[in-house]
Amino acid sequence: MAKILDGKKLSEEILLKLKREVTGLKEKYKKAPHLAVIMAGTYPPSIVYVNIKGKKAKEIGMDFTLFKMPETVEEQLVIKTINKLNRDKKINGIIVQLPLPKHLNERRILDHIAIEKDVDGLTTENIGALVSGYPYYIPCTPQGIMELVKLTKQKLEGKRAVIIGRSNIVGKPIAFLLLKEHCTVTLCHSRTRDLDREAASADILVVAIGRPHFVKGSWVKKAATVIDVGINRVEDKTSPKGYHLVGDVDFKAAVKKAAYITPVPGGVGPLTSIMLLKNTIESFKKNY
Ligand code: NDP
Repeated sequence: MAKILDGKKLSEEILLKLKREVTGLKEKYKKAPHLAVIMAGTYPPSIVYVNIKGKKAKEIGMDFTLFKMPETVEEQLVIKTINKLNRDKKINGIIVQLPLPKHLNERRILDHIAIEKDVDGLTTENIGALVSGYPYYIPCTPQGIMELVKLTKQKLEGKRAVIIGRSNIVGKPIAFLLLKEHCTVTLCHSRTRDLDREAASADILVVAIGRPHFVKGSWVKKAATVIDVGINRVEDKTSPKGYHLVGDVDFKAAVKKAAYITPVPGGVGPLTSIMLLKNTIESFKKNY
């Protein structure tokens, strides 16, 4: 049976450290790090995620401002807001909650965030820096994944890492972070042939595709480390919400073969917002 990599517990431990750090910064500088979040529209999961970010920020004494915009907001207004926040000395971190409404150009908008305030690490400039091995900020979900991998205390050098999913926010950045740790990295996607065989060769398997229980137990190598990034709602009439959350990996089967595995919920998820706060504190310290 695999050891469970408990993201909830780890995130609580890191949160406590961050709280102490913010307290120290407030004593020294008489002001707190300040995170600004821009959210356009009312996509329900985004509201949940933004509320979590705000709650956690307040918990550690960080200032948090939410700029809510209507679903129909014009791109120029979003960009104008970002430019204003870029110039505002009181703001240390700026993020744009994704996904954006369809009429908005995500890349064009993200790339207006000044690199020193890009605490999600998603601007083209920061992704380029990440590829070169020297990111300004490490994107939040991949940074959380690396924290979980560190819990296993294994030597990463020479390990075979297979990542399923090549998005800009998870798949691509985690590939470069594992490469930096000297893993041999394979990045898979929807056109990959023999995906099951690729997965079964992985010492470290990271799955970020958004399909419930897509990776079967038979795809997992014995004693592998399995990081399940997927968050999928599946209908559940017995739950008050009408659904429950599952990952991209068939947990019940994979837990029997892996050495380490993340649960869903309670694995990667809780770390993402914590890494955002960590990056905002970094920004405060670097740019004060
Ligand atoms: P995207 O939709 O942006 O990307 C999905 C990726 O999965 C694509 O690269 C796609 O391939 C690949 N894919 C889709 N279907 C298959 C398939 N059948 N076989 C192989 N590859 C496939 O998703 P995200 O990266 O944004 O998110 C992935 C999952 O992770 C979601 O469930 C999301 O909710 C979750 N997530 C969790 C976070 C957390 O904090 N825990 C943070 C971010 C995301 P192709 O490129 O070829 O289309």
